[in-house]
Amino acid sequence: MVTSEATPYAKTGGLADMVAALSRQLAENGHEVKVLLPLYGSLSRLEDLTALPAPFRVNLPDALWCRLWQAKPADNLTLYFLQYDRFFGRPELYTGPYGAHGDNPERFCLLSRAAIDLPNYLHWIPDVFHLHDWMTALVPVYLETVARSGPLEHTASLLTLHNLAHQGFAPRSILNFAGLPEDLFRPDALESCGSVNFLKGGIYFANKLTTVSPTYAEEIRRPEFGHGLHPILSFRGGDLIGILNGIDRHIWDPQSDPAILKNYSADDLSGKQECRMDLLHRCDFLSRENEPLFGIISRLDRQKGLDILLEILPSLLGDLPGSYVFLGSGERALEERLQELANGYPGRVFCRIGYDEDLAHKIEAGADFFLMPSRFEPCGLNQLYSMAYGTLPIVRATGGLRDTVDNYDGLGGGTGFVFNDLSPAALRRTIGWAIDTFLNRPDAILALRRRAMGRDFSWPASARAYEHCYRWALEKKL
Ligand code: ADP
Repeated sequence: MVTSEATPYAKTGGLADMVAALSRQLAENGHEVKVLLPLYGSLSRLEDLTALPAPFRVNLPDALWCRLWQAKPADNLTLYFLQYDRFFGRPELYTGPYGAHGDNPERFCLLSRAAIDLPNYLHWIPDVFHLHDWMTALVPVYLETVARSGPLEHTASLLTLHNLAHQGFAPRSILNFAGLPEDLFRPDALESCGSVNFLKGGIYFANKLTTVSPTYAEEIRRPEFGHGLHPILSFRGGDLIGILNGIDRHIWDPQSDPAILKNYSADDLSGKQECRMDLLHRCDFLSRENEPLFGIISRLDRQKGLDILLEILPSLLGDLPGSYVFLGSGERALEERLQELANGYPGRVFCRIGYDEDLAHKIEAGADFFLMPSRFEPCGLNQLYSMAYGTLPIVRATGGLRDTVDNYDGLGGGTGFVFNDLSPAALRRTIGWAIDTFLNRPDAILALRRRAMGRDFSWPASARAYEHCYRWALEKKL
């Protein structure tokens, strides 16, 4: 695995959870799994790391000498952390106070080239490189060009697309830094609109491609979702499939979660009621105890559709019962708007701007409903966590949300509330339907919670699907 993030060491989103859980599951299945990621200035759990004695030379044209650290959290599983402080020593993974780091292309070029050089350092040849998003998308490019012959000639590559909105653009000169041939600057390789596009290169050169849900795998072949890459995703469509992410039950299980006030299960939901009271208390919502409580945990990004929710929130608060707790960080304008709403509606809207794992667990356990009105959603994890905690997701039918949440049909089915159009009116209607169900049909809500908690989104099945893909990639390579 080559990745820019992995839980619990460095995380900005679902990618980190997926890499950690899949790696652990594959190791449990008996595979020898090695994970390479950067040693960021903000890395957590430094106490788990030990330094490898020999310096590590990364063979870019200007060779860079790095240091490697390792952690062994489980049998068959080793993580290697690449230390090169000039690139990775700062705390933020991708974006500093003034926007995306200007040297991101060089930083992740170094990570990708390090992946190519690591097997030689370890005297260990992997069968497959599993890459994630643009940050590691140059690995297949190296494998099929400058590293095509030599010790990695039989090593296959699988690139997982977690989010096409980020593609890694760089000026042409990055090819010199990377030590990649100039002739790759062409539209059927790395060139895109006059720049180098890391992700495009990865899509062209990886042996196989996956996304994190079947619906997203279909959607991205269309212009509305392809972010300009839909022609090549259609071209490579025969090698592209979607595999749903699972839930890491070591971290997200209401029966054992240490972050919540009281553990509970589908058979006995009394603990959920206590978690709900705890959350109401924390948010100063106690006067709204009998009204539905909505939770939102999200990157504050256009992708997540929260601008639509914030547009209708004042009228929802005016017309309908309910209170709203937000946890998130991201775009400054959204952060400010949320803060304004929280100030304007104390006792009904609470917001915590920032990243807070502990509060995230408390929201999942304590809320009645979880809102995800995403414009697009490659998989989405929070709706899965919500269902596991008996918190009913209200989601737009896109990507992984469509694949994982069944709409409440008013009869005997469903695990949440699903709407199609991303419009203020459709979102409002669906929230209204959820509020009405909560207030007038408590039995239906209880049945929905139990059905949601009974859904199985565990990693073993998804890891098996990845094993098939690895074999498939190897066959293609040989
Ligand atoms: P994405 O990867 O697009 O951000 P996902 O739903 O796949 O969305 O994964 C988001 C992950 O990040 C979840 O584990 C979620 O709980 C977590 N997360 C997002 N924002 C925060 C936050 N502000 N505090 C704590 N956890 C967060």
